Amino acid sequence: MNNKNRNPGKIRLTTLFSGVVALAVILTSVTAVAASYKTQREHLYARTLEMDYSAANRMSITMNTLFSSMKKGLETLANEFSEVDPARQSQEIQSKLDFFNSSNNYFNSVTWTSEQGYVLKTTPSNLNLEGKRLQTEPTNEALTSKKPTLSVPYIGATGRLIVLMTEPVFNKQGVYKGFIGGTIYLEENNILDSIFGVNRIDRTGSYFLIVDSTGKLIYHPEQNLLGKDLSDNQVVQKLIQGQSGKESVVNSFGVPFLAGYSTVAHNQWGIIVQTPISMVIRQQNEQVSKMLMIMLPSFLFLMCLTIFMARKVAAPFVFLANFVGKAASSKEKLPIPLEKNHWNWEADLLTKTVLHSISEMQQQSERLNDSARKDPLTGLMNRRSFEEFCAVFDQNGQPFSLLILDIDRFKYVNDTFGHLAGDEVLKFLSQKILSSVRAEDLCFRFGGEEFIVILPNTRLSKAFLTAERIRKDVERSDTLPIGRPVTVSIGIAEYPAQSSDFQELFEMADKALYRAKEEGRNRTIVSNCGNSD
Ligand code: GH3
Ligand code: MG
Ligand code: MG
Repeated sequence: MNNKNRNPGKIRLTTLFSGVVALAVILTSVTAVAASYKTQREHLYARTLEMDYSAANRMSITMNTLFSSMKKGLETLANEFSEVDPARQSQEIQSKLDFFNSSNNYFNSVTWTSEQGYVLKTTPSNLNLEGKRLQTEPTNEALTSKKPTLSVPYIGATGRLIVLMTEPVFNKQGVYKGFIGGTIYLEENNILDSIFGVNRIDRTGSYFLIVDSTGKLIYHPEQNLLGKDLSDNQVVQKLIQGQSGKESVVNSFGVPFLAGYSTVAHNQWGIIVQTPISMVIRQQNEQVSKMLMIMLPSFLFLMCLTIFMARKVAAPFVFLANFVGKAASSKEKLPIPLEKNHWNWEADLLTKTVLHSISEMQQQSERLNDSARKDPLTGLMNRRSFEEFCAVFDQNGQPFSLLILDIDRFKYVNDTFGHLAGDEVLKFLSQKILSSVRAEDLCFRFGGEEFIVILPNTRLSKAFLTAERIRKDVERSDTLPIGRPVTVSIGIAEYPAQSSDFQELFEMADKALYRAKEEGRNRTIVSNCGNSD
């Protein structure tokens, strides 16, 4: 029986078990992940803020030290140039400037500018500024204040976006001799890159930016933003006020960030280290994916185990369904495996009960079959069986000879010895007939004291011999329980040699029997109708 496509609306045990386990595992995982997701995110936010803040702090300390050194460097140069005459010692000034610039990387260019604002010397010397007058706001401020200055970002005389740091030059008499100016080219490789690294965005997506004391952008991974005024940004405002801290912010483009910030004590610049929140979320999602990947093998193992167990649990039911199906459709009697055991107690109980019931039913059906097909008195097959066999022989076309046997003057036996003794005689004669034929021959009690014997694959001549053997055997026996012989008359016909029509064949044998009776009984007569050899 094919169980696979039966009852399409019904759920299979394997599917049910697997589904329930999969659902349980998935729900548990989703609940666990969802429960930890929020706290994990808060934890990640806090950690990122802390890391950004400590990075900003470290950078501000570094920059503080750096600016002190840069300022010291310019001061030293200013001192060295206090008694130098630019007109006569041009070469010496150039050498000192070149040496200063090559011995450290502080500035992209260093210039000595006279008190009227004319460029006296530059390093590198190829800037083509010598003799030119600087008239930008920051240079004017340096000249008029005669003090150290640090500019906001501005476009310098060479057309670059720069920040200018100056130190005044005074001679021994205190006469102002201009200033030494160091520039940082904001859009080119500069000291900030050297100190803080060329990778402006790290692998976690964090990056830093530097604003000057007025909120103008000095350092940013996107160069086109350099010089931009960020003073309306809430974090930049805090930096302008000299504060340090960490918080979640939204930048000028509406992108949310986690930011740590710190002010550089020396120059009031502000450093912001920030991580886009989207990157933090991505990190968390990666962590969740990793966690799920770790859980996957266990999940798969659990599923395999469940499917295996479900199949094991379902197996007895499938077995029973198959067996009962086969037993119902099979014409043969199926051997029942009553010793069949199952590890599952309920399945075992069910299997044993069902198999036992089927066995009972088989036996009962056999009994019913027997009583329907057998003559209860003699145990021979009855008239109904005879008709069934006729149908089978007819179907197969198998040749046979038909004997009809009738007890002579049986009424007399009954009348003389009683009906019960007559029954016993019938039984006795049945056994006699059975023992006189071959195993493949078929004996029937046709009714009353009439018997039929079918001799398969037997021609008339041989059938006659068999009939005579039976007849003589009966004649010679002291029939029990009456203690004296009875005789029988027999008529014979052959299928299909004499007739292939059963009704006709039967009538032929019956006529032969009738003749045997007429001719004095206790004899065998072969039908002489039809085409017998
Ligand atoms: P014939 O030689 O012509 O066959 O004579 P007969 O007496 O055998 O034939 P008849 O047909 O006149 O009688 C048959 C008898 O068989 C009548 C009936 O009572 C008896 N009989 C039929 N069935 C049974 C049975 O089951 N038990 C007993 N004891 N007698 C039966
Ligand atoms: Mg009769
Ligand atoms: Mg008779």
